Amino acid sequence: MRYYFLAFVLLLFSCKKEKSESDNVSQKVIVIQPLGGFKVKQAKKVFAEIKALNPNVVLRTDISFPENSFYKPRNRYRADSIIKHLKNNIGKDSVIVGLSNYDISTTYKGIKDWGVMGLGYVPGKSCVVSDFRLSAKTKNQQFYKLVLHELGHTEGLPHCSVKTCLMRDAEGGNPLDQEKAFCQSCKSFLKGKGWQLI
Ligand SMILES: [Zn+2]
Ligand SMILES: [Zn+2]
Repeated sequence: MRYYFLAFVLLLFSCKKEKSESDNVSQKVIVIQPLGGFKVKQAKKVFAEIKALNPNVVLRTDISFPENSFYKPRNRYRADSIIKHLKNNIGKDSVIVGLSNYDISTTYKGIKDWGVMGLGYVPGKSCVVSDFRLSAKTKNQQFYKLVLHELGHTEGLPHCSVKTCLMRDAEGGNPLDQEKAFCQSCKSFLKGKGWQLI
């Protein structure tokens, strides 16, 4: 009797798994959300770069930062509050990326307010990026890589140890100029999710 029961449970599980895999493969709409007077030209550039690879992308008009996200002592916005707010602001089959020219921060490794370049759920429906900490010289290239990094997190990708991979952990620095593309392993993970941004 025990074996029958176990077999039944396994069958249920495998059906469930199959369904969720095919759900993931359907293309998501990528929603780009400029925040707090983000530079229009810069937003259009990222939009065009993503659109060249994936036509399912929407550029929204600018909105204010969520009310509770401003962290006055450091004059910056809380990335964790932003992504929490943004995830409720989109449809079921979408993922949203917020764009900020202001510095953003989150609680990290016991430090209450740690400045970051970006933050995203792993996996989840929202992420945010800021160009505040990027190198002046290569800002545009770095910004695009950062957007792909955070979107990668939303698909479920963790940080990657390959030095040239876009999923490399910044570890408080800025390694973006050394990053070239998603590594083979991250690429195949994203392909399995039906991603076109590779
Ligand atoms: Zn990351
Ligand atoms: Zn990788």
